[in-house]
Formats: sequence, C-alpha cells, structure tokens
Amino acid sequence: MKKLVLKQKVFFNSQVTKNVAYRLSVLKLLKKEILRREKSIINALYLDFGKSEFETKSSEIGIVISELNKTIKNLKRWSRSKRVLPSILNFPSTAKIHKEPFGTVLILAPWNYPFNLAIVPLIGAVAAGNTVILKPSELTSNTSHVIYEIINKIFEDDYVAVVEGGVNVSQELLKQKWDYIFFTGSVRIGRIVYQSAAKYLTPVTLELGGKSPCIVDKTANLRVAAKRIVWGKFLNGGQTCIAPDYLIVEREIKYELIELIKSEIILAYGDDPKLSKDYPRIINKANFIRLKGMLDDVEILYGGENDINDKYISPTIIDEPRLESELMLGEIFGPLLPVLTFESREEIDNIIEKFPNPLSFYIFSNNKKFRNHFIDKYSFGGAVINDTVVQFINNRLPFGGVGESGIGMYHGRYSFDVFSREKPVITRYNRPDISIRYLPANNLKQKVISFLLTGKF
Ligand code: NAD
Repeated sequence: MKKLVLKQKVFFNSQVTKNVAYRLSVLKLLKKEILRREKSIINALYLDFGKSEFETKSSEIGIVISELNKTIKNLKRWSRSKRVLPSILNFPSTAKIHKEPFGTVLILAPWNYPFNLAIVPLIGAVAAGNTVILKPSELTSNTSHVIYEIINKIFEDDYVAVVEGGVNVSQELLKQKWDYIFFTGSVRIGRIVYQSAAKYLTPVTLELGGKSPCIVDKTANLRVAAKRIVWGKFLNGGQTCIAPDYLIVEREIKYELIELIKSEIILAYGDDPKLSKDYPRIINKANFIRLKGMLDDVEILYGGENDINDKYISPTIIDEPRLESELMLGEIFGPLLPVLTFESREEIDNIIEKFPNPLSFYIFSNNKKFRNHFIDKYSFGGAVINDTVVQFINNRLPFGGVGESGIGMYHGRYSFDVFSREKPVITRYNRPDISIRYLPANNLKQKVISFLLTGKF
C-alpha cells in the first residue's frame, strides 16, 4: 500500500493532473465506461442486497451520471483562477485565487449506496486534479468488484486505484500519509478516521449519519405526507443515511396519518413486501440482529414480520417508543418507523434536543411560522419541507452534515471545491514603489497606513 501511495505521489508531482483538458478527457471516459457497464452494476447491487433495477438506475447510476454531466459541463469554469480586488496598500498589484488539487486522496465508501457514494466523491477528486485511492465497502463485494473493473479499465493505478477489502485494509490505508481523506460511513468509524488524519494534520471530509427527525403537523397535506414518508423511509430498505429516522406527529392526526402510511406501504410493496421485487434486504445478519433487537419491548402498529435466513424485515410502524428504548438511542438505519406525538412546540423541542445535530430535518406543514421556528433554531445537514430525501437529488445544493453528522459538504461545484485548495497569489509591479511602508518610520507614514487599513487616522 505504501508503494501504491508513493507511486501516486510521483504521478501527481509529474503535474499531468494539473491539466484541465486531461481531467475532462478521463471523466468523459469514465462516463462512457459506466454506461457500458450498466447491466453489471444493476446485477451486482441485486446480488449484494436485493436492490432493484429501478432503484439502482435512479439512486446509483442516475445520480452518478448527473454528477458527471454537471462536472464535465462546468469544469473549465470552476477551475479558472479568480481575480479579486487588490489592497490599496499593495498598489500597484493584482490579486488572484488559484484552485489547486491537494495531491493524493483517500476515499473510504460505505455499503448502503455502494456505487453512488464511491463514485460521486471520486468525480470531484479527479475533477479537481487529485490522484485517488478508493476503498469501496467490503459488505457489498459484488459492487466493489464492478467498481474495481470500471476504474481499472480507464486509469493506471498511479492515477486512480481501487483497493478492495475489509476493515484491516482500511486500517492499513489509514496509516499512510494522505493529502486529503474523504470518508462516508458511521459516526463511530468517522472518529477513528479523524484520529488517523490528525497524525499528519490531513484535512478531512466526514459524511456521517444521525437521527433525522420528521415532523408532521395538522396543517400538512396528510395524503402527500404519507406517500413521501413511505418513499423516503423504506427506500433501500430503510438503509439510507438521510432517511427520516422517526416521526413526531401532532396528536390529533396521528391515527389518520398512520392509516395513510399503511395504505402507501401496501401500494408500494403489496400486501406481502417479501414478494416485492422492489424491496431490498438488510445488508447482513449483524444488522438484521441489531434491528430485530430494537423490536423487543415496543408496540408494533404495523409490520414487524422478519426472517433471518432471508435478512428480511418488513416495513414496520412502532407506536410511541420510550426515548430510552434501543430504537430511540441511535440511528435506526433500517425499515422501522417510530411514531412519537406532540401537542405543543415545546414537546417537539424536548425530543429533538435529546439528539446531536441531525444530517437531515423534515417538516410536513403548511404553517410557515411553525416551520421557520425549527429551520431557524436548529443546526442540521439539510432540510426539506413537505418531502423527504430529495435534497440528495439537486447537485446545485451542498450536501453534508454538521457536528456529529459530519464535516464538509460536496456534490456538484461543492465537490470540486472540497477537493481543491484556494491558493492566493499577488503580483506586484515594480513602479511606482510607494515608500510609506518602508523604514524609517515617521508620524505621517503611520497616519496614512492607519487610515488606509482602518479608515481612521
Ligand atoms: P461504516 O462506518 O461501518 O463503514 C464505512 C467504511 O469504513 C467502509 O469502507 C469500511 O470498510 C470502513 N471501516 C469499517 N470499520 C473500520 C475500522 N475499524 N477502521 C477503519 N475503517 C473501517 O459504515 P457503513 O455501515 O458502511 O454505512 C452505514 C453508515 O454510514 C450509517 O451510519 C449511515 O448513516 C452512514 N452514511 C452516511 C452518509 C452520508 O452521506 N452522510 C451516506 C451513507 C451512509
């Protein structure tokens, strides 16, 4: 691994990746190869956790192609250096900000959107002119291998390399000296990555998880809310970092909303979701057992069927779990939907304030004042009013967490920026060489400098 990193550093130092036309040409090749391998990607995700063709085409391949299109279209503009106004004290001069790549970047990807969350950061890193070593998740080994084949077809390993493997490979990678680390995964492993990065003061992006609330008040359009909650919660079998984790519903509409949610589940997945080709499985037995454990000691209002041999848990609604229950302690990351209730805004605040900053915040309400209270009061990765999960689709918006849900933002232009350093460069002219800053000091010089810096003598 050390050799591979060194090889990449040598390639980076050759300056080849500083050429924007070169970056553009490889991004175009990457797009072509992904489209050519579409069938293998769909197949791999199905084998890994039963993800359907429909979901893979939209939430994995579609998002990646949209990111590639945006980057290819805008890269020349993004990478141009930017002129800013010079300081009068430096007169005459020009001042510019150059965009420079960090160097050799490590990307560690999770399993839950295994293609999307490996390739989207990679696009930003390559677009910005870095060399990359990418480690996909070992839990989705079929997708990991397709990624390896796609990257291997286009890039020499001194430019972009895929290293497959599990925790020990990750640990070995984290011992190397990187110029940037981009990690997507759990808060627990995020802390380990941050600690490793500290050794060399390596800058990081951490895209983590959290407990994202979804508030529904009585002014909301409940039919639309139910449809959009079901879509966002049970997409990917509930294994989405930005899924609504739990509902906080105004007490008087609770049962009406629950009935609508049940109907939407049946509409989407049929009476027996186990038979639906669109309903994925839990990624592995460990996660199945973790989720099943959350069902002990709670009141199930709907669903709850499960089968360890098939790693299947049906879409499940849970009635008012205790805040101290296993279900409410951390991120659920599965198809379990707890429903809490409120009568006053203070009751909602009391629930939300129990958890660290969430990655997402959802509010279904047509009451602007009610919505603004939460939007203004809380700090979270991103919010959606009257829908769920759609913030991921718009790559004109930055995506990322805050506090325990992460550090840094990416997508579209923000991906290019996150993998670039802003390097200021001033060019001075030799004449006139105004002498006020040179020694010997005198009162007049002092006053002029003071005026030019602060506006006051
Ligand atoms: P994870 O943290 O277990 O694994 C992520 C990566 O870290 C994998 O490549 C894995 O091999 C590696 N890893 C695992 N253990 C390690 C260790 N001890 N040392 C070094 N590396 C290690 O996460 P996961 O289970 O793949 O994904 C689920 C989590 O990711 C959830 O918490 C979810 O919210 C979060 N997530 C966040 C986002 C986001 O964009 N913010 C997106 C998807 C998932």
